[in-house]
Amino acid sequence: MKNKKECEIVQDLLMNYADGVLNPESKKLVENHLKECEECQLELKHIQDDMKEKENREQIELNYLKKIRIKTRVKSVLLAIGIIVLIAFVIFLNNFIKINSIMNRAEKSLQSNNFYKETSQMLGNNETSITKEYYKDGKYKSIWMIYSDNGVETKSIEYANSNSDERTYINEADKKAVIEKGDVLEMKNKNIKNVPFVTSRNSLFAKIGTTFVYSINTDTYDYGKEYYILKNRSENNRWEIWIDKETGLPIREINRGGAKSFFMGTNVVKEIRDTIQSYKYEFDIVTDEDVEVPDLSNYTIENTTLNMEDMIKE
Ligand SMILES: [Zn+2]
Repeated sequence: MKNKKECEIVQDLLMNYADGVLNPESKKLVENHLKECEECQLELKHIQDDMKEKENREQIELNYLKKIRIKTRVKSVLLAIGIIVLIAFVIFLNNFIKINSIMNRAEKSLQSNNFYKETSQMLGNNETSITKEYYKDGKYKSIWMIYSDNGVETKSIEYANSNSDERTYINEADKKAVIEKGDVLEMKNKNIKNVPFVTSRNSLFAKIGTTFVYSINTDTYDYGKEYYILKNRSENNRWEIWIDKETGLPIREINRGGAKSFFMGTNVVKEIRDTIQSYKYEFDIVTDEDVEVPDLSNYTIENTTLNMEDMIKE
């Protein structure tokens, strides 16, 4: 009962049969015909093979597209990381160049053999501490004074020489002089021109370290002059230092909330304020008399030694 007409009808249905979308009656008709017709069986096999091949090709294309998409994503992530690293490096380099220039200028300023430095700090109880340091050709004098509404009180006067192991402290009020000797002072005297932040940081390694630790900004202060402000990056550190762009020397150090006072006899806070140390420098104004140890014949003299070994033992 096989005839050409039926073959034509079945072959028209084969594609849908292979797709599994025929209604039950048509499906039954196709299956019954296939049992008896080899030609249509062969045709079905062709269709199924074609479909399989097409599916495989699509899968391969899909996999290929997926791979490309992953590659593209990896590329963009790497690019983003690269850009971030580059920006960070440029910021670091920019800061390093600034720090390097500050330190170099400071070193140059400190090479001067005639150097005056004044440090002042408000002490909170209507008193201001002033330290005046004079340096000339290796000789050094430092005067520490307290200013208040009652006047000026000289607390101590100190003399040193950069090539000696001796320091002389004079107490004017008591007419007393203490002469200290020892290797500790020899080292201290070599660093007589002591300036906060700058002096010990002239090596490349220290400069790189400083660049990592401190952020650097520019701001104006007294009559619109611009200064660098270096701040410790860590959040709980409120310390900052302002640096003169021309000399590379610090003009003030601020410790935000650095001073806390309490109501007498309690732990209740009365005041929290910033401690600010201001610095002034002048070059070529120090005279020989400024740094000369005075005649001590009218003074009571006390001699002491300060050796590293003794200090370690203590
Ligand atoms: Zn047939």
